[in-house]
Amino acid sequence: MSIKGLEVINIINKIADVISENKLYLTELDAAIGDGDHGLNMSKGFEAVKEKLVDDNGENLGNTFKKIGMTLVSTVGGASGPLYGTAFMKAAPVLNNKSEIDLDDFINVLKSSLDGIKMRGKAVAGEKTMIDSIEPALNSLIESKEKDLSIIDCLDNAQKAAYEGVEKTKEIKATKGRASYLGDRSIGHQDAGATSSYLILKTIYEYIKGE
Ligand code: ADP
Ligand code: MG
Repeated sequence: MSIKGLEVINIINKIADVISENKLYLTELDAAIGDGDHGLNMSKGFEAVKEKLVDDNGENLGNTFKKIGMTLVSTVGGASGPLYGTAFMKAAPVLNNKSEIDLDDFINVLKSSLDGIKMRGKAVAGEKTMIDSIEPALNSLIESKEKDLSIIDCLDNAQKAAYEGVEKTKEIKATKGRASYLGDRSIGHQDAGATSSYLILKTIYEYIKGE
């Protein structure tokens, strides 16, 4: 099973809508241990992405991802803009000249994205960041694929692993980003960036399942 370029564009648009719907929620999470702009940053960035993709038919998803990454970097002020922007830009070469994506491509996209985020933010798992939901999702995808599960089950397990990762951020002390200024006082709070990453993965699963 592979997902056609135009459907990938539809998924990105859906992600933009879900992020906008969760603007207040993400902002509230960030307000508790950061500066309360994560929802605002993300919705601003993804609304700009949506506008940029109006004329894109998904013929070359490498170009699409490059455009998305550059738009996020240039429109989002906070730390998350460059981080998510780098994620898309690093994934772009994986999709160069591709007009559809299969499970292997998606695994490679997520792997490159995670590498990009780690490189840019110099963080690893366990520091209370978006990495704490993306890395478990990637590991879950690889595991599910080895078990030969259907693409829908693979994506379902991945979004569940991301959710568990988000839940775990509540127990972790932040050592990267603004929340790290709080030290131990960051414990007990859920990370906003891990939550937005989970919402993105959940949206992908729900879209594919609904098809
Ligand atoms: P800012 O921190 O500049 O206000 P946002 O509020 O948009 O930016 O994003 C905050 C989120 O970014 C955090 O919840 C965390 O998940 C993520 N983040 C911050 N620093 C890093 C980092 N070095 N590596 C990975 N993710 C990070
Ligand atoms: Mg913030």
